[in-house]
This record gives sequence, C-alpha cells and structure tokens, in this order.
Amino acid sequence: MGLPKQFDPYKMRSQLYEGIEYKEFWTGKSKNKLDELEQTIIRKLLPDSGYRMIDIGCGFGRLAECYLDRFQQIVMLDGSITLLKQAQETYKEKAVYIAADANCLPFRSYSFDSAVMIRVFHHLADSQRILSELKRVLGGPGYLIFNYCNKLSARKLIRRLIRLDKQNPINLAPVTSGKTMILHHPTYIHRMLIQTGFAQTEYFGVGVMDKLSEKVGQLEKWLPSGEMLAPFFGNLKLAPWIICKTQSQEGDAFINNNCIHDILVCPACYGFITNNTQKYKCAECNRSYPIEDGIADFRLDF
Ligand SMILES: [Zn+2]
Repeated sequence: MGLPKQFDPYKMRSQLYEGIEYKEFWTGKSKNKLDELEQTIIRKLLPDSGYRMIDIGCGFGRLAECYLDRFQQIVMLDGSITLLKQAQETYKEKAVYIAADANCLPFRSYSFDSAVMIRVFHHLADSQRILSELKRVLGGPGYLIFNYCNKLSARKLIRRLIRLDKQNPINLAPVTSGKTMILHHPTYIHRMLIQTGFAQTEYFGVGVMDKLSEKVGQLEKWLPSGEMLAPFFGNLKLAPWIICKTQSQEGDAFINNNCIHDILVCPACYGFITNNTQKYKCAECNRSYPIEDGIADFRLDF
C-alpha cells in the first residue's frame, strides 16, 4: 500500500494513513497494469449479486467499480478518514463509510455475504486475528477475497540462492520486509484459513507480467496477459502477490436488515450501541464514536 517509506512507529495507528496521497501510488505504467489486473481478477471472483459486502481498506475507492452494482448495500471501511472522504466524494450515497481498525470490526457476526480486503493483510501484525474477525462477520456461505505478499516468490528464492537475502523463504513463519510489510508463506496462509473455518480456496498470482511489461518495451504485445497467467502463477505460488478467494462454510446466514445501524456493535466490547446524529455510544462500556460528515469513526486509538 502507499505507506511512506519512513514513518514514525510511535505515531498512532489510526494516523498512519492520514494525509497520504494513496492515489499517487497508483500512477506509472507498471502500477496501472497491476491495478487493471487486480480489478479484472476481483471482478471475476466476486459473485454476480449479493446482499451486503464490505471493502476493508477501501482507500479512495480504487476497487469500487468492481462491486458497486452487484450488492444491495456496500460498506467501505478504512483506517484513514482522509481516504474515506475521497471515496465519499466520488461514490456519495452508493456506500456507507466507516473508519475502523480491521482487527476490531464494529459489526455483528454474520453481517456480510462478501468481503474484499486488498493490500491490507501485509500491514497487519496479527494475521490470525484478522482472519478470525473476517470469519466472524461473514455469514455462510460468505465469500472472502483478499491478497497477501508472498514470501516464497521467485524473486525471493533467487535472492536467497545468490545469498542477497538472509531470510530463508522456505521457512513457514511470516517475516517483515522494510518497516511496513509482512510477507507470508502460502502454506502458512492456507493452513490458517482451514483452521479458521474457510474452505473452497483458490489462488491467483499477480505482480509478474506488469513488471515484465515495463522492461520489454515494444515486445510487450507478444507477452501472454497477466489475467491468463494468474491461475498458473497462483497454483505455482511463486508470484510476489497472491490473491485468494475463499468461503466461510459455517455460521448462520447473514442478518438481512436494511438499516446499517442494525449491524453495528462496539468494536471494543461487541456491546450494543445506540446512536444520534453526532455519535454512536456503547451501552456496555460507554465508549462513544463520533459521526462526522457522514463518516462514523470506530477507530479505537484516536
Ligand atoms: Zn463497548
């Protein structure tokens, strides 16, 4: 994601993405190709229609066109109010905008029938926690589409072979890369998904052809498309980014309420919340969460 290369680790987590021009991150030929490919794959993987879906880490709404016309209700969630405001300016009343921590989702269990979480997982330290949260809020059969940064990519294997990298990519444990990224082993992710109660998992690899097309210039037209090769790279598990589609098997059907207030809970204690025009308030732990310009702020460390 478009995090700054250097950031202050003591800064509050909710402030990390504030004021960052994430749109700028998605400029340039290689990034455009990757953006296009990710959107094509996500469009293909999402069900044609559904009731309620959530885009976790929606940013400025980069992926919105993939899902806006397919669901009756859309929740766009991000840790950054700045980015949510940009999404809101573009998509207005087509979505509900919520600021929250992906680890503590302010929703009742089984609230959604689809969830998308792209370019978020590699920033979260507790991968088990986020997958458990996603499992909790998804009704069965609920679709989860997310991606992770692959520690076993061909590039990492070669760097290890020529001893440029100290870390062994074969080892299953997650590793950090730079200050903001956590890389995961495909086997580690697959095992964790099964243990958490997800099944029917499919993988797609991206981040290869977009890089290559940048390097080969005119020869690009002779290359097979990234879309065609994504299932192959996904099965090989050697691409730098892996997109995963999986399904929550257990659990009741999602709550079929029209009103967003009916699915909201306190993210700190999962207690019942009441609301007026300015804030939500937890009836159990008394925390309150402000609503400003139509964006409810459920971040716990603001
Ligand atoms: Zn509470």
